[in-house]
Amino acid sequence: MYPSAAQEVLLLVACGQARFVWNLALEQRLMWARWKGPTPGFNAQAAQLTEARAAEPWLAAGSQTVQQQALRDLDQAWRQFFAGTHRRPTWRRAGQHEGIRIVGPQALRVRQDNRARSSVLVPKIGWVSFKRSRALVGWKSYRITCDRAGRWHIALAVFPEPIPAPGAGGVVGVDRGVTVAVALSTGEMTSPAGLRPREAERLLRLQRRLARARRGSNRRRKVRTLIGQLKARDGDRRKDWVEKTSTDLARRFDVIRVENLNVKAMTRSARGTIENPGRNVAQKAGLNRGILKSGWGLLVTRLEQKAPGRVEKGKAAYTSQTCNACKHIAAESRKSQATFVCVACGHRANADVNAAMNIAAGQAVTARGDRRVLARSVKREPQHARPPKVA
Ligand SMILES: [Zn+2]
Repeated sequence: MYPSAAQEVLLLVACGQARFVWNLALEQRLMWARWKGPTPGFNAQAAQLTEARAAEPWLAAGSQTVQQQALRDLDQAWRQFFAGTHRRPTWRRAGQHEGIRIVGPQALRVRQDNRARSSVLVPKIGWVSFKRSRALVGWKSYRITCDRAGRWHIALAVFPEPIPAPGAGGVVGVDRGVTVAVALSTGEMTSPAGLRPREAERLLRLQRRLARARRGSNRRRKVRTLIGQLKARDGDRRKDWVEKTSTDLARRFDVIRVENLNVKAMTRSARGTIENPGRNVAQKAGLNRGILKSGWGLLVTRLEQKAPGRVEKGKAAYTSQTCNACKHIAAESRKSQATFVCVACGHRANADVNAAMNIAAGQAVTARGDRRVLARSVKREPQHARPPKVA
């Protein structure tokens, strides 16, 4: 999104007000105690917002729509928390969670400017230009956010249609690798680009400089922006990889089998044993953390959203130690991170691909089809939901 300099100031103020309202309302809700009785719900908080706007001119100067929506978003966040699909609502921080949401008729004021650009009429701010990434159809709300690198984004919320199964694509097994992020049972291997070594070095240097900079200084702010830009680049590349990989898998295969996420097994795989210690342990642990943090979980989530009912989560045990040719299980068969040579039959393969083939052949333990689906309101923004906890 491309706000003018004046609009950017107004947008940041609107984000600040939304954040203030959210945090204040969250604080009220967190004060719940058995002996104090109920905390105010949405209606009570909305009434209090009206009073607060009458008493505080700086709050009244902003858009009521934006501020009230922050209360509605918080209310929805709590309901989703109690339904067990989402985590507990958290505090919003300046520079980190900058965003506003517009819902209803006001969200529909969008005009097309030319082949690439459109503009949106943001309450109290005016027409703000943005670049379309696709045709705009059927949205009921939008969210405007500013990321840590200072870039503005608008997301018009639409539930996308799931990707249809190819029909004759068969089953694919997907293994989380240690040296590569993902190995397929077809033999393909892929990893997100992430930061290049020189970029990673620069990030480290900047982080050291940030540690030395005085709090609240101009220098510190500048360094933080540079760090934000590098981290945004890393995140962009990872997200791009996740989107492309998940779409590709959903288009090519009918059933996608993945491993259940098991953090313990992953860190163990890098460390190795006393007789056969792993190499570059710290480096791999770092890589594992990266994959765990932003790559693998998101990949599985996006797969489940793009191919609902076609993703199966299998058992994770012994997939890396089992020979795909003769099914013999032995830890010694895994000669190194990269190679697998069966001690029983001599079958030789890439270790990650061998594991992916075992996952493809494995029995599905839980399919996503039995997951509880929350009723969808047309006004609701698509959310990344966690499956509810099973007691
Ligand atoms: Zn074998």
